[in-house]
Amino acid sequence: MSQHLLNRRQFLAAASAGSAAAAAAQTSTAGANPARKTGRLALLGGDPIRKNRPWPRWPHCDEEVVNAITKTTRSGIWCRIQSASGTVPTFEKAYASLIGAKFCVATGSGTQALHTAVEAFGIGAGDEVITSPYTDPGTIAAILASRALPVLADLDPESFQLDPADVERRITPATRAIMPVHMMGQPCHLERFLALGKERNLVVIEDACQAHLAEYQGRKLGTLGTVGCYSFQTSKTIACGEGGAVVGDDEALMDRCYTVHNHGTSRRGLTEVIGPKYRMNEFEAAVLLGQLAGVQARHERRNANARHLSERLRGFPGLVPQKLYPGTQSGSFYLYAMSYHKEHFNQIPRSRFLKALDAEGVSLSPYIERGLHREPWIDFVCNNRVYQKMFPERRLQQFREEMVCPRCDQVCQDMVMLWASGPLLGTTADMDDVADAILKVYENRDQLAAAQ
Ligand SMILES: *Cc1c(COP(=O)(O)O)cnc(C)c1O
Repeated sequence: MSQHLLNRRQFLAAASAGSAAAAAAQTSTAGANPARKTGRLALLGGDPIRKNRPWPRWPHCDEEVVNAITKTTRSGIWCRIQSASGTVPTFEKAYASLIGAKFCVATGSGTQALHTAVEAFGIGAGDEVITSPYTDPGTIAAILASRALPVLADLDPESFQLDPADVERRITPATRAIMPVHMMGQPCHLERFLALGKERNLVVIEDACQAHLAEYQGRKLGTLGTVGCYSFQTSKTIACGEGGAVVGDDEALMDRCYTVHNHGTSRRGLTEVIGPKYRMNEFEAAVLLGQLAGVQARHERRNANARHLSERLRGFPGLVPQKLYPGTQSGSFYLYAMSYHKEHFNQIPRSRFLKALDAEGVSLSPYIERGLHREPWIDFVCNNRVYQKMFPERRLQQFREEMVCPRCDQVCQDMVMLWASGPLLGTTADMDDVADAILKVYENRDQLAAAQ
């Protein structure tokens, strides 16, 4: 026990946080086994915190999923237009009801869902959509696919989310929509985006591709904006390999989403508008339907584990979990994200910290290496014949010059996160492994720094 107190004092000594945080840290480490944190680092030849104990696997697969696939295969209904009561229409109804939206259109991916929404709003060449540089490339691909201009705003560095003030600063007369992203499956500062949308007459398309079942101000994410878009790609917390969905309450708009995603052909059988073919197939919907029964329980498990992990790290200044906005009730915990503060780790670079953790049997990842404001698509767009026709030269020049997001750069540099879809389904002991491994590396930071 005295060992425990000593360790605790050591890490409190390093804390720049005030006494309240220090008091929190005292209670938060009370249940930990100190011996686990003080042995020699596995990277330097010691015993790892965790060995021969695999993490829960992801994607989720059980008999129900397998049976659903078999049933669809045997039915011969492999495409949604074959039957109004096939697996895709059935999934759409079930998902809309689960999320609390009136309508749902399933697509082949999250990118397709976002593009369907952009196209359904009639956003296109000459229009601008403001979104985050810290996201999946699918977010901007959806805007570019309609030949609109994705304008990137900087982040709130503590929440890793799009900053409403910087979004407001980047609105131009050509701005038609805001596409806030709920990064890591946690609510972004949505209240502010909804107010901004109202005030400036902009559509709010929620990129909820990581945020299934997450709750904010009494509603599920994806149902607060004009429309919400989800991804069911393998890694996401509801997954079928590749898949997506748009949800919304506006019947006419959601009917247009259907038409757009169905190569411009409406439910009435008329080919009416510009649209790609983005239909979800019946096998994908079968996998999704087969796993829906357990999704709420898995959501709760991830949230309980995340709470435990955050509690264990409370007051520890070296790794600071993602800041959550008021109104956040639960997150999807697609990723459990933290920022790494090397000043509390004897200046050990993040890459070496991650290597030491990995040797302890706990793998965290730096995630996105550089923001989308640093990717070559910007040159492509500025040199593209169509964009040069649709946007004044001055605007494209300004667009390029203003692609500066220093807070996003900082987030990319400091991010360490757990791919959480599978691991957060583990036990409390699994979470203690994560916290213990982090604290063990911390306790041994001097040795680690010296061994470089
Ligand atoms: C996964 C993801 C997308 C794209 O979804 P896909 O199904 O991969 O096309 C878009 N935005 C975010 C935030 C995502 O995480």
